[in-house]
Amino acid sequence: MSNVYFQSIDSYSKTAEINATAVKLLQLIEKEENVALNTFIPLKVHLGEKGNTTFIEPKNFNGIIDYLTEKNIRTAFVETNVLYKGQRNTNEKHMKVAEEHGFTRIPVIIADGEAGEDYEVVEIDKKHFKECKIAKAVAKESQIIVLSHFKGHMLAGFGGAIKQLAMGCASKGGKLAQHANSIPKISRSKCTACKACAAKCPESAIIVGKKAEIDKNKCVGCASCMAVCKNNAIKNSWLASLTKAFNERMAEYAYAAAKGKRNIYINFAFNITRGCDCEGHSMKPIARDIGIFASTDPVAVDQACLDILERNEGKRVLKRGRRTLEYAADIGLGSRKYQLVEL
Ligand code: SF4
Ligand code: SF4
Repeated sequence: MSNVYFQSIDSYSKTAEINATAVKLLQLIEKEENVALNTFIPLKVHLGEKGNTTFIEPKNFNGIIDYLTEKNIRTAFVETNVLYKGQRNTNEKHMKVAEEHGFTRIPVIIADGEAGEDYEVVEIDKKHFKECKIAKAVAKESQIIVLSHFKGHMLAGFGGAIKQLAMGCASKGGKLAQHANSIPKISRSKCTACKACAAKCPESAIIVGKKAEIDKNKCVGCASCMAVCKNNAIKNSWLASLTKAFNERMAEYAYAAAKGKRNIYINFAFNITRGCDCEGHSMKPIARDIGIFASTDPVAVDQACLDILERNEGKRVLKRGRRTLEYAADIGLGSRKYQLVEL
């Protein structure tokens, strides 16, 4: 059984109160869970897609940054490139969004490089994956503070700590593998044979004649080519994700991202929307704000968020995605049983 520390607070509270709560929870983890802090700790955040208005704003992380700074601990925001077309699928575009969304106080590191090519292979030997492609700047650290916005997600059902680890810490190729289509497809009708993808491919797996084609024997599924195609001709199949196996693959990637690390997970259950922060438009919350949760166990902290959401609303608000928690517990990522320590 794991401990989950929780304080009820809403997003309308003063920013200073939200910051003080987050720090109090972090201190409790240090003290009660005996977690020693490293001298450099990346803060895994979601920067929010351009146009999204409900992501957790960086002002809410100032307390944690101040606290770490007082202890002479260096820190940086870390994030990874996304798979889909948008404003965050390359390092350059991502940095622009980071600035626009106010993530300027500490450095921002896009952990899988310019377009997903920087990753380390983490061996896990599980049912779906023997090895996972984890973004390099995450893989090399032994401790991360994972700051998650707890809310819904169109494919995963819900997103919290596990999703931040699974998709949020995977390189683009790792994301593609979780979506079950690790070799992207090129639409012949959209391809103009511009060769940008071939120039980007680290494996020389793209041959461009009248149209571009991927050599399946050479492709390692890194997904770098998807980001550079201005015609949106290179895609994966999102439909393949609507399966239980997708939830399991996510759990295995979360396991890989957390492997060997002494992480701290802090979930902000505010602005609980049906969709994710990766959606570039504003959404209305579908439930009341809950508060801030912290744990050393990513499964327990997500389970606690879901349970209290359900208790508060008197019904199952986010219906899908429980398989992720079940399977994550089965493979040893954490426990669904927890003790809620309410402040
Ligand atoms: S970048 Fe896109 S349009 Fe250009 S060759 Fe590759 S697939 Fe075709
Ligand atoms: S063709 Fe394969 S190896 Fe080459 S960039 Fe695309 S996903 Fe990566």
